Amino acid sequence: METVSILGVPFAKATMQEMVSALESRLEQQQKTFVVTANPEIVMQARDKPDFQRCIQQADYITADGIGVVKAAQMIGQPLPERVAGYDMMHELFALCAKRGWSVYMIGAEEEVIVGAVEKVQELYPGIKIVGYRNGFFELDDQTIIADIQQAKPDLVLAALGMARQEEWIVQTLPAVDQGVFIGVGGSFDVLAG
Ligand code: UDP
Repeated sequence: METVSILGVPFAKATMQEMVSALESRLEQQQKTFVVTANPEIVMQARDKPDFQRCIQQADYITADGIGVVKAAQMIGQPLPERVAGYDMMHELFALCAKRGWSVYMIGAEEEVIVGAVEKVQELYPGIKIVGYRNGFFELDDQTIIADIQQAKPDLVLAALGMARQEEWIVQTLPAVDQGVFIGVGGSFDVLAG
């Protein structure tokens, strides 16, 4: 997929529809995938912290999660087609997973938030397979979580652990699993749980 570089961060030049359809193919092929939904804060963090820059360079796709990114792309004369917000993409993917029978694992946020978010998803997308969830307060090297994911074999893993923490967790978890589209979704579970 073509990209537009903003301060060294390569953004996918894709509409929401194109992004979802690229991810649908990866899900069909059970191809391990790392998606970063990046807002201007993430771009600045990547500029300032080389470790974080290296971490997100490993992403298969970086989407423009914020109008600031779309405006910056326009200013440098390499426009991105539209904003591809993590929260909206998450909903598109829930709908897709419910329709195609793909399983979902949700990790992140406070315990009562994740419980509320899972209930909301089950209410909004009847029949969706949530094969596991857990709150986001754990040591990053906690091996029990990896074991849980290896057993559950989710097709889609949504990680809402906050910026940088979620990307770091995804990068260290991916080598231990055989499949899964992993996406960092920031504060999305808080919004979902309401
Ligand atoms: N969060 C988490 N574990 C942590 C820190 C944060 O699960 O160790 C969750 C937090 O509860 C919230 C989400 O990550 O649901 C996003 O947090 P925040 O808005 O602080 O992060 P940002 O993405 O703005 O950095």
